[in-house]
Amino acid sequence: MTFRRAVVVGAGLSGLMAARTLASRGWSVVVLDKGRGVGGRMATRRITTPDGRTAILDHGAQFFTVRDARFAALVDEWTGAGVVREWCRGFGGDDGHPRHVANNGMTALTKHLATGLDVRTSTLVFAVKPGDVSRWTVVIDDGSEIDADAVVMTSPLPQSYSLTVTAGVELPSELLLTDYDRTIGLLAVLDRPSSIATPGGLQNPDEVFSWIGDNAAKGISTVPAVTFHANPEWSAAHWDDDADTGSALLTNAAGAYLGDAAIVASEYKKWRFATPKRLWPEPCFSTADDTLVFAGDAFAGPKVEGAVLSGIAAGSVVAGG
Ligand SMILES: Cc1cc2nc3c(=O)[nH]c(=O)nc-3n(C[C@H](O)[C@H](O)[C@H](O)COP(=O)(O)OP(=O)(O)OC[C@H]3O[C@@H](n4cnc5c(N)ncnc54)[C@H](O)[C@@H]3O)c2cc1C
Repeated sequence: MTFRRAVVVGAGLSGLMAARTLASRGWSVVVLDKGRGVGGRMATRRITTPDGRTAILDHGAQFFTVRDARFAALVDEWTGAGVVREWCRGFGGDDGHPRHVANNGMTALTKHLATGLDVRTSTLVFAVKPGDVSRWTVVIDDGSEIDADAVVMTSPLPQSYSLTVTAGVELPSELLLTDYDRTIGLLAVLDRPSSIATPGGLQNPDEVFSWIGDNAAKGISTVPAVTFHANPEWSAAHWDDDADTGSALLTNAAGAYLGDAAIVASEYKKWRFATPKRLWPEPCFSTADDTLVFAGDAFAGPKVEGAVLSGIAAGSVVAGG
């Protein structure tokens, strides 16, 4: 049997699922991510207060829902492994649909998925180009190169496109035009519990925020800590604000949800590629020879479930169906 090697760009949900799918089909896989850790938009932060208390806050994805039967089977497996659990069944009353979270913060799920894989973090991919000895050569920003029979790109599409300009492949214009909504967030550690009602989440509560999540009520932080996400309109309008101005505006708007609590530590965070505005109709896009595949949440849906299913689809395409 020919030894086959793949490089996966991105250690978010899509990339890790593509890598696991390929590894289970006998491929040798290297996953590269520019971040310091795995997870991408499955991001969890620790913030220590001046008096030494450490809060844990999810600052990307907050929870996930399940629709597809294949995804449901995976969620059952992760639940059995103690990695995820049900948080609640809605934020304005019980709507019957479970919202799941990862124990210890959403990054924990991606850490679990990375186990056993060759994942190289703090590794910025600079370009993908046709190889001399293999189909593709992946160029890292330190000048080193990795040869691969196939490459799976899972960075947000504008980034994937710029990395593959040197690949000499033609991509559909609709794919190239995919843009993303932005999200600005405020991660706030409190001196006492917030006044947000159980189960601790508010969706689109006003004209500033699309989401407010109480990480203590969610069960990932022993220290009171709330994640505030500004909606796409507010985030676009304030994208170029300096951090002090933007943070002051969000802190002011957040006050309405804190009751008697005061913010004792905070971080202001920006996601440039938060949510794809347009979805590609297939779960991934591959070149004619199926050796360069584009995947991510812009394909199977702008959520945790979509990213997972797109990654599996990409790995399956490369492995031959
Ligand atoms: C603020 C926010 C809130 C959200 N809330 C929810 C929610 O509540 N529920 C839900 O289901 N979904 C939510 N989502 C969406 C969900 O997080 C994403 O759909 C999913 O995590 C995307 O996974 P992905 O693998 O496609 O992309 P990503 O997680 O973005 O992974 C791409 C990876 O590529 C890496 N990368 C990029 N360029 C390079 C390069 N040149 N070299 C190497 N690596 C590179 C990045 O570092 C990143 O790790 C939210 C997203 C955001 C931003």
